Formats: sequence, C-alpha cells, structure tokens
Amino acid sequence: MELWQRLRRELGACCDLLLPPACLLCGDRLPAGTPASEFCPTCRAGLPPLPPARCPVCAAAHRTPLPSLHHCEVCLRQPPPFDRVHAVGPYAGTLQEATQAFKYRGQLPLERPLGALLAAAVLAGGGRRADLVVPVPLHRSRLRERGYNQSLQLARQLAGALAVPVAPALLHRNRATVAQQGLDAVARGGNLRGAFAVAGPVAGRRLLLVDDVMTTGATVRECAGVLRRAGAAAVEVAVLGRA
Ligand SMILES: [Zn+2]
Ligand SMILES: [Zn+2]
Repeated sequence: MELWQRLRRELGACCDLLLPPACLLCGDRLPAGTPASEFCPTCRAGLPPLPPARCPVCAAAHRTPLPSLHHCEVCLRQPPPFDRVHAVGPYAGTLQEATQAFKYRGQLPLERPLGALLAAAVLAGGGRRADLVVPVPLHRSRLRERGYNQSLQLARQLAGALAVPVAPALLHRNRATVAQQGLDAVARGGNLRGAFAVAGPVAGRRLLLVDDVMTTGATVRECAGVLRRAGAAAVEVAVLGRA
C-alpha cells in the first residue's frame, strides 16, 4: 500500500512536469506549486466577493444601507428554518460560469475547486461544526437526465474538507417539480411544497445543507423546514452562488 502511494505520488510529479496542470476554468497553465484542484490566480481574482452589507442570516445583499447585523426584510417577515447561509460569492462572473459548466455541461472535475471554495466559505463564515453534510436531492427523472446530482458532488467535497460525514440519501425528493427558473418567489414556494421528505434519523443533529445556487431561497427553506420538523437541532446552508 505504502509503495503504491509513493509510486502514485512520484508518477504524479512526472506527469506534472510533462503536462503541467491547467486551470479548469480558463485552460491557462497553473503556476508552479498550485494544486491541480485550484483555479489559476486570474480566475480566483475574478471571483467577486460577497457584499459586506448583507443579511447575517440569508446572506442576501442589503439593497438599502442598513447597519451590519441587521436582518433583511424577507428574514424579518418570515424567519427562515435555517440558522444561516454560507456562500462563496454573488452568483455572477466567474463563479456563475463555473457553476453552470459544472451543473449543466458535465464538467465534473470542477467539483474539486468549487468544493474547496465552498469549504473555505464555510470555515470563514465561522459556522458551528456540523454532524452531517446533507445535499439537496434531485428527483429521479432529473438525475436520470443529468447522470449526477451536482449538490451531492459538492457535498462530498465539502464533507471531505471538513472531515464530517455526508448523508447522501437523508433528504428524499418525492416528486419532480417544474424548474424554479422563471417562477416568482411565491410560485417557487408553492411549487416545492411537500416535495421533500426526511429518510433517516436527524433528531438533535446539526446539519449542513448543500445546494449549488440560492436565488429566492425557496428550495433551502423547504428542505431546512422538513429537517427541522423532523427534529434537527440546527440547519446551516452552504451554497456556491447567492443570487
Ligand atoms: Zn483560470
Ligand atoms: Zn435575510
């Protein structure tokens, strides 16, 4: 086993010399010493940061200047069933490109750099340690079409980085729903009502729910709601892009 690991490491170094790893986003050669799982410095610099004035619960950008720690109107009007949202950045620019390539164009190797960014966002957000990482599930029909659940791929990467187990089937999607794109916030909530069920014990557990993008938050609200009603002690959310 040890010999195999050493061989693999050394072969890996040879391959890097002959064929230097490229940035998975722009294809440029990575500077020496950059792990192959990372984006190049230019692409990383192109990732827009989250706005400093944002809701401490759902991470939505404040439209009007508000004192920090002020909850947004949506969270004040209807306190969400999750405790807080960790996001890599606004859903725009390089992050949006990478997320779409990963989700819709089968660019699976992007799971590593995107997972690393997600883990960094959770750690920087100072969230409490979770007992389990839980991906937002896809319905069978969508899974058959795409071949993978992008949230599960991200959840695995995140769970690995945080050394927390992942529960791939804890949440179950009961029915296929119309794509949320193009629906307004109210229609999004109605579209998802009753779409998810909990398929395992969660009582007293602290969960980290993973999705790729959070737009109105209808999906994570619905998922966090069923998890809380099943007895979860806390639900934090981790997403790549916050629209
Ligand atoms: Zn790049
Ligand atoms: Zn909010």
